Amino acid sequence: MFFGNSGAEANEGAFKVARRTGRPTILALEGGFHGRTLGALALTHKPAYREPFEPLPGGVVHLPFGDLGALEAALVGDAGQHVAALVVEAVQGEGGVRPLPPGYLAAARRLTTAAGALLVVDEVQTGVGRTGAWFAHTRHGVVPDVVTLAKGLGGGVPIGAVVTLGERASTLLGAGQHGSTFGGNPVSAAAALATLHVIERDDLLRQATEVGAHLVRGVEGLGHPLVQGVRGEGLLLGIQATRPVAAQVVVAALEAGVVMNAVAPEVVRLAPPLVLTHQQADEFLAVLPHALDVATAPTDGRDD
Ligand SMILES: *Cc1c(COP(=O)(O)O)cnc(C)c1O
Repeated sequence: MFFGNSGAEANEGAFKVARRTGRPTILALEGGFHGRTLGALALTHKPAYREPFEPLPGGVVHLPFGDLGALEAALVGDAGQHVAALVVEAVQGEGGVRPLPPGYLAAARRLTTAAGALLVVDEVQTGVGRTGAWFAHTRHGVVPDVVTLAKGLGGGVPIGAVVTLGERASTLLGAGQHGSTFGGNPVSAAAALATLHVIERDDLLRQATEVGAHLVRGVEGLGHPLVQGVRGEGLLLGIQATRPVAAQVVVAALEAGVVMNAVAPEVVRLAPPLVLTHQQADEFLAVLPHALDVATAPTDGRDD
């Protein structure tokens, strides 16, 4: 485990581990978000984030999201011999709260192993309890070669980690090949230990699972015409709207004291703290219909 100061930095570490395989290609997914430093940006898909800073580190190929056929074509046979790693999020966060389809991560594990490539799971957003489990990938029954962590790890204090599992991934980076002045500093490490302790002590994985399920039932139960459905796991949820109103819903909700964000034109993301109670979730559910109504209200032609 190597500690850094952010998610992007954790993914830079994973990128360097992948390069050390000596293979040229790194696979990532369309819709994927991995951070804003140059290596992490090369893994990130969105053109608006990437293009102003090109050329980025080379060799990254983006595959269509959740497409098993494309994954097989990239990893089976000769093509697979050039692949250093596949980098995925178990649930794409910035990409619209999109969980990988069932079976995808297990197939990715099988195919990367057969090709001698690494499986890197970016759990910067999903890790440390966000989805109701310590790690989102464990639900898929896989053990990755590399896991990256950050957001939830320090409970608001900056810390990131790149975790290698198993003999091969753990010996690719040699002594002196990576480092960070502030990585693993005592303040951040103490905050991370305190965070892990509180999650265990207060049973927050169970709480995140239960309050998350309560939120899904509550939002779907509104029967609001603007709500097409809710997806995600634990307390990482995306409200899918029937129209591109996410930005207006977010503004209306903020005025009512609720912080959400628009991760896609039709998707509002909820990522509340793991300590959110049922009662606080109910307060949100009481405000949401109003925010949705404001977004659907006919405008008088003004844009403000
Ligand atoms: C936020 C995020 C990052 C980047 O983390 P920073 O700490 O902002 O650098 C990387 N990957 C995923 C999946 C993220 O959600």
